[in-house]
Parts: sequence; structure tokens; C-alpha cells
Amino acid sequence: MVNRTLAQADSQIAQILAKETERQEKTLMLIPSENYASRAVMAACGSVFTNKYAEGYPGKRYYNGCQYYDELEQVAIDRAKALFKCDHANVQLHTGSQANMAAYYAMLKPGDKIMAMSVAQGGHLTHGASVNFSGQMYESHFYGLDPDTDQLNYEQIRQMAMEVRPRLVICGASAYPRVIDFRIFKDIADECGAYLMADIAHICGLVAAEVHPTPVPFSDIVTSTTHKTLRGPRGALMLCKEQWAGKVDRAVFPGVQAGPLMHIVAGKAVAFKEAGEFGFREYQRQIVRNAHALAKTLLDEGFTLVTGGTDNHLLLVDLRNKGITGAEAADRMEVAGMVVNKNLIPNDPTPPAVTSGIRPGTPGLTTRGMKEPEMALVGRWIARVIHEGKSNPQVLDKVRGEVEELCAAFPIYLDL
Ligand SMILES: *Cc1c(COP(=O)(O)O)cnc(C)c1O
Repeated sequence: MVNRTLAQADSQIAQILAKETERQEKTLMLIPSENYASRAVMAACGSVFTNKYAEGYPGKRYYNGCQYYDELEQVAIDRAKALFKCDHANVQLHTGSQANMAAYYAMLKPGDKIMAMSVAQGGHLTHGASVNFSGQMYESHFYGLDPDTDQLNYEQIRQMAMEVRPRLVICGASAYPRVIDFRIFKDIADECGAYLMADIAHICGLVAAEVHPTPVPFSDIVTSTTHKTLRGPRGALMLCKEQWAGKVDRAVFPGVQAGPLMHIVAGKAVAFKEAGEFGFREYQRQIVRNAHALAKTLLDEGFTLVTGGTDNHLLLVDLRNKGITGAEAADRMEVAGMVVNKNLIPNDPTPPAVTSGIRPGTPGLTTRGMKEPEMALVGRWIARVIHEGKSNPQVLDKVRGEVEELCAAFPIYLDL
């Protein structure tokens, strides 16, 4: 049984996999939190490393037979430390949410005050939202964006921090198109006597490539996913200063996790190596250039962008002047082969299942090798679908055909 191929062992799953592979090849990935992992990353993840328990850390395992897991994890840790220039890295986190859970577990007691950006303004569920463990375990307070600029207003955040006196200030977001000034957040945290955590899940690749300033020198703990701009396997990591190393490691294991996914740790190690190579820096720069190009085309087509543009890999499009909700726009774009997600805009009058915005991003298209001319095409297709798609549904088929042609010219994986 263990020697059969997937197609031999389970044709049903093999068929679903084939359909998903085709979907990925023939559509444009515009969701900014997604990317295409390399073949090398996927090979490491789909390997015999999935077969072993390795609870504990290199040299301190609770299972026998871990010598190569010690070697593997140490390589992953050393690469993460070199890439992000930090004292300590934990590479065992299964997801970004678990990384945040472990970070809180390392720094806080239940009931402690935390202060973060609200989900409605671009923050993440795990930053204290009431429907999430973080909002139930801790007393959460939220800062938002400046109503005039839709950007972080550090003076307002400072004032709020001095009133609230949180134990932890959290910075980092899921839908913020501008640079985050981690140095000012550090000043604010110091002034109100709080720890600082930076969650760089979205911008991790930009940070690794020094295309966005790093939070590492300023933060007690940095958490991140590994599968967004970093382009590694689905998973997460934590970075910290030496003084937090023991607490961080104990918070991850045995605090919130037992056996690590060592095949995914292998994939992370490969991704950290790729992220240290010269081409990765150019890739991250191109992501930002592509986001600028997409922003320009959308502005030319009469769209409103929250903050007027972008500094990073994503745009937040305010659709209120177009007479369409985010949900409708995203569904219509999907019919035309462009997969994007709806997103709340600041002070959105509609609920999260509807929204007034979409959040297109460029990491996936950039991985395929697309550059500014292709972004102009994509921007014009988005405009056609949103402007004409309702009165003239054939437009959606027409655009879908053109999208598929572009996809064929920029294959993701060359030999499927
Ligand atoms: C994506 C994201 C996470 C959570 O990652 P999961 O792996 O989906 O749990 C956490 N924080 C931020 C800011 C994110 O964007």
C-alpha cells in the first residue's frame, strides 16, 4: 500500500487535486495572503519527514530516533535567524493564529490588557476580536485609522496607550497598504510600559528582503506566517530577543502544541534558503512595483483606493462609487478568472459578509513572472468586469478567455 501513487491509491482525491491544479494554472491569484510555493518547498513538505514525532527541540526530544530531525530543525532555525537578523527563532508553529496564541501565552496572564488594530480597520482576528480566543482570554482595546488619512495616526495611538496602559501593544495588519513604523510603536510601548509584538504575517517576504523596514530590533516578539509574501509552506514562526527565547519555546511546546509538523519545518527551511537568495530580493521589489502599476491602472479607471495607493503588496479598493459591494465584485471577478477577496474598508457601512471593498494583491502574479504591462491588463480587466459585467454578462466570458491566455503565457509550474 505504501508504494502506490496517489492516483492508484485514491483516484477520487487525485481527481480533485488535478482539478485544483488546473484552477490554479488558469486563474489569476489576486488574494494578497496567498502565493505559490516552489517545487522544492513542496517536495520537502511531501516527504518522509511527515512520519516522525519530534516533540521537544534539537538535542532535547521526547522521542527516540530524532537525530535527523535535530539536524533539520537546527538548519531551519539558523536560516531564520540569519534571514531576519534575530537572536532566536521558533519554527514549529502550525499557523499564524497559533503563533499569536503562543506569543500571548509567553507574555501575558488571562485578563491582561492588550491593544491592537481592530479587524474592522485592517487588524487580524487573533488581535483580540471578541469571536476569537484572544478577545475572550484578554481584555482587548482597539486602535483604528485616522479618519482623514485612513492611515495609522501614531499620536492617537500613543494617547490611547497612555490611557489604557496595556500589558501588550500589537502592531501589524491584514489589510493595511502602507508602511508600518515599528520604531514609533516601540516608543509607544516603552512609554506606556507595555511589551511590543509585531505580527508581520502579510509582509514577511518584504521584511526578509528589506523592502519593508524590519520590526525585529524593536519588538519583544515577532510572529509571522510563512506562506504569504514569504512564499514558503503553510505555517508560521516566531522571532524574539534572547531574553524571550526560553519563554517562547516553552509557550509553543508544551504550551500550545505537541508534535511539530516536521515535514513543514523542512519546507520552511527550504523557503528560508530561497528567501536569502539574490533573486528573492528582486522578486519582492517587483511585487511592490506591480502593486504600484495595478494601483495606477485602477486609479486611471476611476477607482478609489483607500489611502490613495500602496507601499506594499496589496491595495484596498473602495467600491462605494461603483454601485457594487465587495462580495458581488469578488464573485463576478471569479467568473472572469480573477480570484480576489472582498474586504471591509475603514468605517465600512456594510457587514463583513458583504463589505464595500476588495483587497487585490500582487505576490502570486509576481511569482508567475508577470510585470507592469501585465498589471495594466489585469487592472483594465477588473474595470471591465465591474463596469460592464452586470449589464453585459458576456464580458465576463470574454475577459475569462483573455485571462486564460495570459495564464498560459505565465505557467506556475512548468511540467505538470
Ligand atoms: C494571515 C494572518 C494571520 C493568521 O494566519 P493563519 O495561518 O491563517 O492562522 C495572523 N495575523 C495576520 C496579521 C495575518 O494576516
